Amino acid sequence: MSGRFGIIVHGGAGVSKSLGDGILSSRREHMIKAVEEGMGILRRRGNGALDAAESAVTLMESSGAFNAGKGSCLTITKETEMDAGIMDGSNLQCGAVGAIRDVTNPIKVARKVLELTPHALLAGGPAASFADSNGIPLEKIGATKIKLKMFDELTKSKSHLRYQEFGTVGAVVIDKDGNLASAVSTGGTWLKMEGRIGDSAIVGAGFYADNRAGASVATGNGEAIMKLCLSKYVCDLMPNGMNVKVACNEAVRKLTNVSQGWGGVIAIDPQGQVGIANNTEGMPRAYLFNDMDSPQVAIFEKENQG
Ligand code: ASP
Repeated sequence: MSGRFGIIVHGGAGVSKSLGDGILSSRREHMIKAVEEGMGILRRRGNGALDAAESAVTLMESSGAFNAGKGSCLTITKETEMDAGIMDGSNLQCGAVGAIRDVTNPIKVARKVLELTPHALLAGGPAASFADSNGIPLEKIGATKIKLKMFDELTKSKSHLRYQEFGTVGAVVIDKDGNLASAVSTGGTWLKMEGRIGDSAIVGAGFYADNRAGASVATGNGEAIMKLCLSKYVCDLMPNGMNVKVACNEAVRKLTNVSQGWGGVIAIDPQGQVGIANNTEGMPRAYLFNDMDSPQVAIFEKENQG
């Protein structure tokens, strides 16, 4: 254990410069708040990895600035259905929800699945009822004017199958005790069928954490990510001696070449080293560690190759 602790968050791999400064600066601002919030927890507590990951993702879900929680995209029927997952690297406990409606913070429901049930994934209406009966209020996530405009544009242009407005959120954390955690939340893909569940609800695909290996979360087109169990793949490379940056690059190379997918991953190794890679125009991300004065934030810059 190196004693280095900190948090990395991302805000989705599908951004392009055409999105405009307003939304990009809002994402930047909320990612900074998310890593600061996570670090606050990590500074106060030894074993705060899971809480820091959940809080950072909660903040981004509640902001409405990402394709997660309040800001979630619409299904083909103009509904909102979300996926989220969280994992504790100290014991491999995980919890997830798929195609859940009517909650602002699906990550909180995923955490309750982890803590209160013998299961790893709850889906649909029963997942919302479970939330309701465990103190998470149900509220409709509305189809706002902006979302409806996007819906119309995408249905007309048919461009949604590739670059659309993606902004899934994720976090990977290492705490003072060397515990790792990962958390991810998304509205999924625009114009998806009702009931579609993507990688963000699937342990090993959208998220993974194991104190002995590393923690990773993925973003991009979920079907391509699921085929490769991408987050687990990143974590499997590291105990074999691969540097975390190289592991992330290798995972994205496989995403591009093997499943013809697009997206990105962020990861932390057990020494608190940072890995980030994506094959898209941009991937908003931020990180903050105990040996840094302020958060490092980037959107379009490529990371140093490993
Ligand atoms: N991976 C998410 C999904 O397919 C979308 C994203 O990362 O933006 O549901």
